[in-house]
Amino acid sequence: MLIAGNWKMNGLSSTLDEVDALIRALKARPAGQDVLVCPPATLISRLVARADGMVEVGGQDCHPKPSGTFTGDVSAEMLRDAGATWTIVGHSERRQYQGDTDKLVAAKAQAAWRAGLGAIICIGETEAERNAGKEEEVVDRQLAASVPDGAAAARTAIAYEPVWAIGTGRTPTNEEIARMHAHLRGELSKRFGPAGRAIPILYGGSVNPKNAKEILAVPEVGGVLVGGASLKAADFLTIIAAAPAQS
Ligand code: PEP
Repeated sequence: MLIAGNWKMNGLSSTLDEVDALIRALKARPAGQDVLVCPPATLISRLVARADGMVEVGGQDCHPKPSGTFTGDVSAEMLRDAGATWTIVGHSERRQYQGDTDKLVAAKAQAAWRAGLGAIICIGETEAERNAGKEEEVVDRQLAASVPDGAAAARTAIAYEPVWAIGTGRTPTNEEIARMHAHLRGELSKRFGPAGRAIPILYGGSVNPKNAKEILAVPEVGGVLVGGASLKAADFLTIIAAAPAQS
């Protein structure tokens, strides 16, 4: 399973103590899972230097172009150069605050692949959309337009993150997660055939040390994308340990 932490705009040099604690603990008791930490871009190379192969390091976004006159942006090639192996694209906070559209998210995913990174492509409905019974319609549209042709398990994960569950302490019920993940699996299989059956579908939104075990046991949940609870090594380790053993 892929257990990924998204630090968002959190993390200074002092936060690296938490990383050291995480690495120490994973060395003492290997996770048997794929563990990924996505810190702010400023910390990527320092995390890579400390990771000692125990965790992979990823970006939180990337620009579609490899370089150019785009002040403030970071390209997928730059993330790769800093030692990242994955990047998140299409996080709802970017869709909401930076205006990332499905088309742009698809271009960013392609940029990630071009640079040799895996892309975690985020999708998910708002609370109003769920209340209107439109959650499947919304994720279908996002999936169709944000996931480029050629998606394959080695370089792609889909993160289903209901917007209303992010940072709120609220989660869908396990049945709701199961229903949505089964639906997404069906859509991926329809579009990508056998490749679509293998692409991991992560759940994200208020995963914490208490609920991780039951969420990770839901059929078709291939891992989790964790925000707040990934900032503390002890919490993140509990979540990692909650993942069922890989066969
Ligand atoms: C996220 O930002 O991807 C996320 C899931 O956040 P949180 O776990 O804090 O809800």
